[in-house]
Amino acid sequence: MQEIIELSETLANQIAAGEVIERPASVVKELVENAIDAGAHKIDILIEAAGVQSIEVIDDGQGIPTDQLERAFLRHATSKIQTKQDLFQIHSLGFRGEALPSIASVADVFLETAVVDATSGAMIHIKGNKIIEKKGSGARRGTKITVSDLFFNTPARLKYLKSQSTELAKIVDIINRLAFSYPSIAFNLVHNQKQLMQTVGNGNLQQVISAVYGVSVARDMVTIDDHDADFKVQGWISKPELTRSNRSYISLLINGRYVHNFNLAKALIKGYGTRLMVGRFPMAVLKIDLDPRLVDVNVHPQKFEVRISKENKLLALIEKMVAEAFDNVNLIPNATENL
Ligand code: ADP
Ligand code: MG
Repeated sequence: MQEIIELSETLANQIAAGEVIERPASVVKELVENAIDAGAHKIDILIEAAGVQSIEVIDDGQGIPTDQLERAFLRHATSKIQTKQDLFQIHSLGFRGEALPSIASVADVFLETAVVDATSGAMIHIKGNKIIEKKGSGARRGTKITVSDLFFNTPARLKYLKSQSTELAKIVDIINRLAFSYPSIAFNLVHNQKQLMQTVGNGNLQQVISAVYGVSVARDMVTIDDHDADFKVQGWISKPELTRSNRSYISLLINGRYVHNFNLAKALIKGYGTRLMVGRFPMAVLKIDLDPRLVDVNVHPQKFEVRISKENKLLALIEKMVAEAFDNVNLIPNATENL
């Protein structure tokens, strides 16, 4: 048997990248989540060739102090949690300190950043976890990160990618869900110089739904809003006659995080009762807010899955809210004056 050794930082990062960075859309998700955590009001996402050629995310968030720039690329280095207590009440989208080192281990990364009121900023160029250059830069507030040559040193991963249209669809999907979660942020998604999606960031969720699914869909949705002692649930659900052939038009947003949760989707569907045609599924954007201590987000490296305590209570609340929405449907004004 060979001797037990500690893996190099680069190799360890590449192993983490295997879990966190599956495809271009995972890079986009991690970078945009960082921009959201940095308090950005406006986020531009510029993609070339479905992200394989380049992914650029520009935010107007708080920036990274120059003396911490290299640290941002170290594994398990984060500004978002410090203690065990923090880990069990996460308020940010990120906290694992894995994204930047993982991305930098499998791509070519330029990051330029400046904090509020700084007279200058800094820029770092890292490829395959090696720092190629670090220097001063302008003082534009916020962060611009450019990721190119994705998977240049992991050819198996590169080969596993699907067609450009499939990879692009996954990018669009993740931006749409983040836009639903954060209607107060102005998102702008551009692919090969063509604008694919834009939100104005005025906090109006119905307008975001309209930007993503079109105005006629947004008009055919009704709003629901209720809470109990533990959960606050609000959002928009489609009228029973507006349906799709699969569940992917259901967005469940738990404390601002888009998650996959079969049970919650099932509760929503159950609330429609016999109003839905067999084999058809509603469209919905549901924001569920709860005390972060009641949800464990540290289940999955990409954080698409979470565990909710008192889940059964939440399921009952959702089912009841949906059922009640249609019991009174004729009483609900269409609320389309803002579209
Ligand atoms: P995490 O998001 O889990 O903390 P990341 O590897 O994604 O880990 O980022 C590491 C750190 O770099 C973050 O904790 C944050 O301090 C900083 N950072 C990354 N992206 C940005 C950004 N766009 N704006 C400000 N700070 C950022
Ligand atoms: Mg992050």
